Amino acid sequence: TINTGTARVVLVTGASSGIGEATARHLAADGHHVVLTARRTDRLAAIVEEITSAGHSAEARALDVVDRGAFQALVDDVVATRGRLDVLVGNAGVMLLSRLDALLVEQWDRMIDVNVRGVYNGIAAVLPHFRAQGSGHVVTMASIGAHEVVPTSAIYSATKYAVWALTEGLRVESDPSIRVTTICPGVTESELAEHITDPQAADAMVDYRKAAIPADAIARAVGFAVSQPGDVDVNEIIVRPAAQR
Ligand code: NDP
Repeated sequence: TINTGTARVVLVTGASSGIGEATARHLAADGHHVVLTARRTDRLAAIVEEITSAGHSAEARALDVVDRGAFQALVDDVVATRGRLDVLVGNAGVMLLSRLDALLVEQWDRMIDVNVRGVYNGIAAVLPHFRAQGSGHVVTMASIGAHEVVPTSAIYSATKYAVWALTEGLRVESDPSIRVTTICPGVTESELAEHITDPQAADAMVDYRKAAIPADAIARAVGFAVSQPGDVDVNEIIVRPAAQR
């Protein structure tokens, strides 16, 4: 692991499974204090128990990223209790793939709510603290889907293009005290595809996901970006399985 010797306070959204869980475990093992957040608090408690039993520092907090007030209250509370918040990893997301003509419009709304509002709710919550403490780092979890659109991914890709644009927008508006990174994973082991209800999209995923790489591969990319010295800003990392075309 890479550690510049600076222990940071990191908040990870969607830390109850997949990439968020792997990222929380990786950053805690790197010596950072990690606040794991998600809706499934039983899962968070079990992960935190394993992290702290291994001698690392972590805590579990309930958070639905769609609830802007709850996001702000949680971030304020972390800053009040830990004295600061250095890194937000805006990872929570849903991928409810389907063709547009399947008209699963409620799932379109859900993806916008979690993947886009959930990310900018986090940015809104942390920015005042980052300004006040004179530093901060926002890491967002976009996707290969932020660079290409395939059949069934129109809305999902739209949310990930939005995540990419939000992250870049924050960079161009910020002074050098605020760093931004967007991570664009390819197919990765997680629970992400399990929530797809469209039969055609679900079937297509079975073969597609055979190339999946472990979530820790993405966690290592987050760790690389977070562990850079303050004058180095790693803006984007694309990590895909070597077998993914
Ligand atoms: P998982 O389904 O395993 O994890 C998703 C996480 O998001 C869970 O911890 C879930 O927690 C959380 N989540 C979902 N909705 C909400 C909500 N409303 N509020 C708070 N947390 C929520 O999938 P991944 O680990 O794969 O997904 C993580 C990110 O990586 C997503 O943004 C996804 O788009 C992105 N990604 C994944 C790829 C892959 O192949 N796996 C490829 C490219 C990008 P809970 O349900 O407990 O709230």
